[in-house]
Amino acid sequence: MKMEPRFEILGKTPLCLKARPSLASAMQAFETSLFLLALGRYPAALTICASAIEAAIKAIPKNDLVGFEDGLAAAIKFAIRKKPRMHIKDLDSFRDTRNQFTHRGYSPEDDGRAVELILRVGYPFLTKCFFEFHSYSLRDSVIGGIWGQIEIARAVLDEQYRTMDDIYNQPKNWQAYATRALRHHLRYGFLDRGEASWSDIDRGLPDHEYTERERVRNNLESKCGVYTYTHCPIPSCMSHDTLVGLEIVHGDQIAADRLFCFECLFRLGSDDKILLRHLIGAELEKQRHAVLKEYGVSRK
Ligand SMILES: [Zn+2]
Repeated sequence: MKMEPRFEILGKTPLCLKARPSLASAMQAFETSLFLLALGRYPAALTICASAIEAAIKAIPKNDLVGFEDGLAAAIKFAIRKKPRMHIKDLDSFRDTRNQFTHRGYSPEDDGRAVELILRVGYPFLTKCFFEFHSYSLRDSVIGGIWGQIEIARAVLDEQYRTMDDIYNQPKNWQAYATRALRHHLRYGFLDRGEASWSDIDRGLPDHEYTERERVRNNLESKCGVYTYTHCPIPSCMSHDTLVGLEIVHGDQIAADRLFCFECLFRLGSDDKILLRHLIGAELEKQRHAVLKEYGVSRK
């Protein structure tokens, strides 16, 4: 490598990566994994995430392996035991799935399993490898709110597992749903960056589309009755032109029922309650008293 590598979504990077090509490769593979995830190529995202892990382990300086009698295998066990602890069988399952995708290809029916393994095993283990072996924090380095969206995706997946009545009767590949906001954020973020020269132009709906705005608002009003505007939960957008339909629960609580951003066109419906709560629950709590007052709901 003649020049220092460039990164798209890793803001802070270790010094002199030119002299540490395996570490640079691991970091680039992590980025590529997120790009593939943004495009819905989940098994490919898993495969490249596994390459990132391998490169991160290969990049461990020889001197740092002195304490590990069995070399790399012992290093992997060491990382697994660090908090939050992981099970070796999960890592085995991740590796087996990667081998299967690599040698025998994949089909859309593999999407859900790939997302689950990426969120629960791939990214957490890669994070540990970077931190334990290279003192590098992914969490502190990923720019633009992407890490927060990865955490939301994981939290949504975990909550779905906890609350779904019949996991086997869910739509095929339901796990991929948890990454919906993360994917939108990544795609919109890159679109935005590519159009930087437009940044001073109001990119909201043009005049002739204001009927579309009215249509959305009327639809939301008729479904929910109560609504508010908030900033968009997609960090690469953050427009304040985001309409949230609300429902009032237990007399004095508010919950989002649907959402529509007029800027980035991100939308969620009443089937998306878990994702809505993880994305804007805290923001709505701040608005709760004002909303209840506006709609004349007396607080208990
Ligand atoms: Zn938006």
